[in-house]
Amino acid sequence: GPLKTIALLGATGSIGGSTLDVVARHPGRFRIGALSAHSRVDELLALCARFRPEAAVITDPAGYDALREGLRALGLPTRALAGPAALDEVAADPANDTVVAAIVGAAGVASTLAAARAGKRLLLANKESVVLAGDLLMQAVAEGGATLLPVDSEHNAIFQCLPADGGRGGVRRLLLTASGGPFRGRSRDSLATVTPDQACAHPNWVMGRKISVDSATLMNKGLEVIEARHLFGLPADRIEVVVHPQSVIHSLVDYVDGSVLAQLGNPDMRTAIAYGLAWPERIDSGVAPLDLAALARFDFEAPDLAAFPCLALAFRALEAGGTAPAVLNAANEIAVSAFLQGELGFLGIPDLIQACLDAMPASPAGSLDDLMATDAEARRLARGLVARGGAR
Ligand code: NDP
Ligand code: MG
Repeated sequence: GPLKTIALLGATGSIGGSTLDVVARHPGRFRIGALSAHSRVDELLALCARFRPEAAVITDPAGYDALREGLRALGLPTRALAGPAALDEVAADPANDTVVAAIVGAAGVASTLAAARAGKRLLLANKESVVLAGDLLMQAVAEGGATLLPVDSEHNAIFQCLPADGGRGGVRRLLLTASGGPFRGRSRDSLATVTPDQACAHPNWVMGRKISVDSATLMNKGLEVIEARHLFGLPADRIEVVVHPQSVIHSLVDYVDGSVLAQLGNPDMRTAIAYGLAWPERIDSGVAPLDLAALARFDFEAPDLAAFPCLALAFRALEAGGTAPAVLNAANEIAVSAFLQGELGFLGIPDLIQACLDAMPASPAGSLDDLMATDAEARRLARGLVARGGAR
């Protein structure tokens, strides 16, 4: 196909790096129009030197001078931009036809919406923006004529297994697989003293620290159930979670005739990213072919909701609807960051989220401004609870 120009938001992260790896394999097919980072200026400059984008965004304005000076010292014509609003600008820029939404957390919501409204090919990794503003995002995709391609491996798998006509004819259930994370099989009590490094040591995937903790609590799967509800338009009672420790079956679609279609692959995000970049074509992603004989077996089990209450909290927020998923997401972001900084124990994560859901009953979700106000209020509440509770 014709050369595609990509705005990669969150270029210095784990998904950002995997995206650039795939892009670099196909220089005649893709070019980088814009890159963003939050605060890691040196890493962003190194990527600018390698990929020579038209624009580079540093969302923390404190990094602006260093970015501008660095680009000049490198002799690059790249424009330096700073602040969160610059993300919306490059996401909607007509010079870029593809936007990869790879920022972590609710900080990615405005640029994801901007790309959808501008009708881009939108590769969506930033699941928190779907949890926070799923209805608004799907509306923006429809109105803007965007092409939404899920990068989250489970949703990418389901996208590949749904009917080719884009409908839901004959679909009975979506089955999301979960690895179970590094603490699968452990009792709730034994998790009281686990450390951030233990929580981030995922058995199958190398990822950013926030999503790694989400995988350890099973909140990642909870966020993904909410994400699936919005992306695929099926109600919560037709979305199920099954633990599959090998992370090779990325998810499944169950049809009324008893057929179950699955997408398999080695656990490497470059497969889903390459799919999104090239769809409806297929391109090499650099991922090794699957060796089934070496794998030998697939295991399955039900999730342990007693040891990992975050999954049930996500279903509760999805059922409550309105602003509840925004509260869930904000409380989780604060809880995870407090855990990573040693201010909250692992078991404090679900406790904090539950306290926020209890204290902020769901109201109808309105505009993005309303949702961001809910997000801010839930963050304030959660921070106050962390400060008062101290480390546990
Ligand atoms: P990382 O933490 O590795 O990277 C996050 C990126 O976002 C970095 O470029 C970072 O910049 C930037 N960033 C951080 N905070 C802000 C902010 N406040 N404003 C703007 N940019 C910010 O995350 P991952 O790549 O692991 O995850 C990215 C998203 O993809 C998440 O939503 C995650 O849930 C989702 N995802 C990730 C998967 C994975 O395998 N990693 C799998 C499926 C989904 P800087 O480097 O300067 O801090
Ligand atoms: Mg996933």
